[in-house]
Amino acid sequence: MYLKKENNIFRTVTFRITLWYIVLLTSLLLTIFILLSLVISSKLIKRVDEELLENAIDIEQQYQTGNINILQTYYSQEAEEEGANNVFFLFLGSNLDVLASSNLSPWKGFDFKLKDLEDISIGEIRLKTHIIPKTRHKVRVISKKTSDGNIIQIGFSLKDDEELIKSYRDIFLITIAVIITIGSILGWLITRRAMSGVVRVTKAAIAIGKGNFSFRVPLGNEGIEIQNMVKAFNDMVAKIELLMKELKDVTNNIAHDLRSPLTRIRGIVETTISGNQNIDEFREMAGIVIEECDRLIVMINTMLEIAEMDQGVTEYSNTPIDLIKIVNDAYELFTPVTEDKNISIKVDIPSNPILLFGDAKRIQRVIANLLDNAIKYTPHGGKIVIKVDQNEKYAKVSILDSGIGIIEEDIPHIFDRFYRGDRSRTTSGNGLGLSLVLAIVKAHHGTVSVKSTPGKGSTFTTYLPLSLPIKEALNNITKK
Ligand code: ADP
Repeated sequence: MYLKKENNIFRTVTFRITLWYIVLLTSLLLTIFILLSLVISSKLIKRVDEELLENAIDIEQQYQTGNINILQTYYSQEAEEEGANNVFFLFLGSNLDVLASSNLSPWKGFDFKLKDLEDISIGEIRLKTHIIPKTRHKVRVISKKTSDGNIIQIGFSLKDDEELIKSYRDIFLITIAVIITIGSILGWLITRRAMSGVVRVTKAAIAIGKGNFSFRVPLGNEGIEIQNMVKAFNDMVAKIELLMKELKDVTNNIAHDLRSPLTRIRGIVETTISGNQNIDEFREMAGIVIEECDRLIVMINTMLEIAEMDQGVTEYSNTPIDLIKIVNDAYELFTPVTEDKNISIKVDIPSNPILLFGDAKRIQRVIANLLDNAIKYTPHGGKIVIKVDQNEKYAKVSILDSGIGIIEEDIPHIFDRFYRGDRSRTTSGNGLGLSLVLAIVKAHHGTVSVKSTPGKGSTFTTYLPLSLPIKEALNNITKK
């Protein structure tokens, strides 16, 4: 489907960008060409006008002597010097009759008695461009009326200037054509090269769409924007790959964790039914079924709670809570369990309360889960210490145990849903305790981390902010 679209060249971005580029380049070059042509022709005309004016003034001064013959000789000489086909001189009487003139034979077909001379006033100078009908060349004509009513007229052929402008135009147009051709080819190649990154990402997306999540787009060197896009795309795919793996693991784990209690329930029910079927056996069966169902319900509820917290859709209260009280309560609650295992448990806490905003019940579960693990993974005769501390911004709770510790390979995974260390399989649990701890701590904008030495023990440290950002705290108060 994608490849089909690519084959339609006119719909490709490469084609469209190149087309825009050509249009813009051509318009720009043509504008420059037109402006330059205008400047050059106006400069040329100005130069001709200056010369014509100089000559007209010169002739008028000569005419002041009053001798037409002198003027005639001057006209003939000047026209010969300049070339009779390049220039003409005329001296017209007030009724436009020719009193003196240069050789006018090369100017056949040109009407010297120009119409606009009829209304020219004394002393007035007129400069105009006319076209010679026969040759279609232009001529610049100056007409000046002398004080006694005669007219001095000089015409200068613009043929040379026209040829100059024409050759300039030809050179410029050829140059424009070459620039546009080379520019278009280069523009096409550059755009296609830049777009090759997009094509690579598209191909990768197609491959990924077919389920190949390990596919990564090669970085290439088309430019920072494309490289950034490729990096972002690869990061996104890596994240999707991880999520898919997690989803698979979670699904497998859920299936596995649901199957065991259900198998147990089915087993006990079957044994009871096929046995003596007395009321005591049914009672015992019912008790076991309830216990297994409760475990299932707790597991499913915990899963839902973690999922809701991760998605940020869970509701939790934000009241000021005293962390010291929560820790002391947990200590008192768990002391009997530690006594059963002959584990010494100590608390190392400041005497003043430590106040923070949060959901008291959930913070209690964080402490309880960490403490429960510490007891679970510490053998008889071991030691547990709960330390509470605070700095300017955070309250810190550390739970140290002298238990079995966690091997290095397990550490990055213990906060994953359903993850259980190999050595923990013999103990009760479902691998959700630490995931819940992480979800709650994150929801409180805190962090939780672990340091552990296998065989020696572990320390879980939680940082919880003393106050939420004011805006959020206010929102939460108004919500309540
Ligand atoms: P569970 O305890 O139900 O297995 P958790 O999510 O609470 O699940 O813990 C995940 C894993 O982390 C445990 O299976 C165990 O391997 C390891 N772990 C957690 N706390 C400790 C601890 N204090 N000492 C040693 N290992 C621990």
